[in-house]
Amino acid sequence: MIYLDNAATTKLSKIAKEAMEPYLDKYYGNPSSSYEFGEISKKIMDEGREQISKIINCNPGEIYYTSGGTESDNFAIKQIAECYGGGHGHIITSKIEHHAILHSCKSIEKKGYEVSYIGVDKWGRVNINELINAIRSDTILISIMHANNEIGTVQPIAAIGRIARENGIIFHTDAVQSFAHIPIDVELMNIDLLSASGHKFNGPKGIGFMYVRDGIKVTPLLDGGEQEKGLRAGTGNVASVAGMSAVAKEAEKRMYERINYESKLRDYFVKRVLREIPYVKYNGNVKNKLPNNANLTVKGVSGSVLMVMLDEAGICVSTGSACNSNSKEPSHVLKAIGLSDKDAECTIRVTLSSDNTYKEIDYTVDKMKKIVYEVREKLA
Ligand code: PLP
Repeated sequence: MIYLDNAATTKLSKIAKEAMEPYLDKYYGNPSSSYEFGEISKKIMDEGREQISKIINCNPGEIYYTSGGTESDNFAIKQIAECYGGGHGHIITSKIEHHAILHSCKSIEKKGYEVSYIGVDKWGRVNINELINAIRSDTILISIMHANNEIGTVQPIAAIGRIARENGIIFHTDAVQSFAHIPIDVELMNIDLLSASGHKFNGPKGIGFMYVRDGIKVTPLLDGGEQEKGLRAGTGNVASVAGMSAVAKEAEKRMYERINYESKLRDYFVKRVLREIPYVKYNGNVKNKLPNNANLTVKGVSGSVLMVMLDEAGICVSTGSACNSNSKEPSHVLKAIGLSDKDAECTIRVTLSSDNTYKEIDYTVDKMKKIVYEVREKLA
């Protein structure tokens, strides 16, 4: 199998697996128990906070474990709205956010909050003037994703954070696709809240975290015990925290080496596709883009047909976003950057990892060429 869908999920790394193992059976104590056996579990959870905090430049106490990106995003939108709006108020987000943000916004709109959805340019970059003009006296929160899961566009987060700060507005970023992949500094970027998810950077599934700047008030997401300082009750997911934090530390060490390798491999892939397959369009911003993302519109060839035929050849890619693959609707991200319904339907997303090789890419391009030729032949 050639796995080219790393924005959907990633392989659990050996480092994560080894870090998790002792906490699955040998050290099964409850981190909330005060005896030594429980302390062992608590220690690894605290160490995890420390490792993660170093990567984004915050204090360990500002890291709250969650079950992943969806929960962290719900946490940010719903709990900040409740805490600062108390039933009404205004939130700004973008049209290309993940559904974890968009559907959370829809949910609070039903409760009386108002939300502005900011547009993007043809490369997927948020329209800054539109964002500034949308700010109102009752704006509570700006939530703009760091990197997009479909087209890989990286937003000017530091600039948006500065605008939020200057206007006294809380700033959240969904960093699910970017954490441990590209640098993040919550101080330099003026970020107040940040969402991340373990399985997007070779950690386990079902674990993530939320950064909440000290001083920002948040109402509890889950009521119960005092875990996560009372904000998110429930016995800690010790083994998963051990795996996620170990792999995050490793990812940070190797970040530039990986960015370099993945971007070169991605550029090689795109260059070959554009040169050898006619009528293909590369979507998203070439410069401000995740190093591993290639989103391609293959004119006249349905993305789902291409995906299935590549699957038959042992290659995993995605049509737009993995989270969209069960939806009949054309991708909201591709529509926001100006693609027609037809072109959005003819789009695939290829997301690489540093485990992928040039040989795999050559095989993939050769298969793609053959499939696209066959499909177009039938249509002609
Ligand atoms: N936000 C973004 C940008 C994502 O890409 C995803 C998953 O694809 C999520 C949130 C949801 O994360 P999780 O799968 O950890 O719930």
